[in-house]
Amino acid sequence: MTDELSECIQKIDLKDSKSDDESTSSSSSSSGGELANEFEIEDVEALLKEGKVKNIVMVVGAGISTSAGIPDFRTPGTGLYSNLERYNLPYPEAVFDIKYFKKRPQAFYTLSKELLPGLYAPTITHHFIAQLGKLGILKRIYSQNIDGLERLAGLEEEKLVEAHGSFASSRCTRCKKVYPNSEVHPMLRAGTVMECTSCEDRNDRAYVKPDIVFFGEGLPDRFHDLLNDDLEECDLMIVMGTSLYVYPVGGIPDGVGNDCPRILINRELVGSFKEDRRRTADAFYCGNADDGALRLAKALGVEEEVKESYKNLKASIDKKREEINNN
Ligand SMILES: [Zn+2]
Repeated sequence: MTDELSECIQKIDLKDSKSDDESTSSSSSSSGGELANEFEIEDVEALLKEGKVKNIVMVVGAGISTSAGIPDFRTPGTGLYSNLERYNLPYPEAVFDIKYFKKRPQAFYTLSKELLPGLYAPTITHHFIAQLGKLGILKRIYSQNIDGLERLAGLEEEKLVEAHGSFASSRCTRCKKVYPNSEVHPMLRAGTVMECTSCEDRNDRAYVKPDIVFFGEGLPDRFHDLLNDDLEECDLMIVMGTSLYVYPVGGIPDGVGNDCPRILINRELVGSFKEDRRRTADAFYCGNADDGALRLAKALGVEEEVKESYKNLKASIDKKREEINNN
């Protein structure tokens, strides 16, 4: 979540209000919207069945993790949001603002208690993604989520770009000293702010932060290093569970040619799927991520594998969580 990013969000907001005006005057409107071209999910299924897809690039967001039970802290009325109210944040996103964190890290530590990987099991969609990796047809997935569920479902790290970072590593925000998860995660789980001991020795107070990308910080090098080549090789773009509002990740689907097949699996049309009439191979599946993932898994002949691995991992994580809650 960078400065360039917040600038882009503003641009998108402007663009969005414009397209809203347009859509009120147009007659086409089903539950989630319709595309102008005649490319459908059935065409994507056919490409997968016929083995014509070798380099899938995916862009995913919070919508693929909602069925895991991960709450959205921005939604008023949810437990997470109420937990943060007592910190009198200037605005909810301040919890992910690097300047705010350096002065008042407690709100982030409180939120982390709920977000730290381990409490939630990966969804059907995460296991579908892991299967794509095993089949050797996933070039890369760009995830905006910090829940670590792609890793947990067994996706190789090499296939994954956690564009907004993750809890998988942590360091001091000032001296950059790296702290092991074995020290940081118990503190996050307890909601206890962790100070950097090296900085403390110099009477220079600083805090340890997981490598999640905060507002005011740049995206990981890995994102910039891989993106152009990935887009060049992409022969199917799959976008799931994201509003595509947050840039630069929201712009990734636009980086492929107009005739490159793209499918959006989401509750509503978003981004250029909604606006770009030049695209001839855009498909839209209006619904939740897991249902869409299962359709594509079926086309690839791995539906049962996806369901089975989902069931097994969920059972073991649910059991672990029960043990934690009972202690
Ligand atoms: Zn330090």
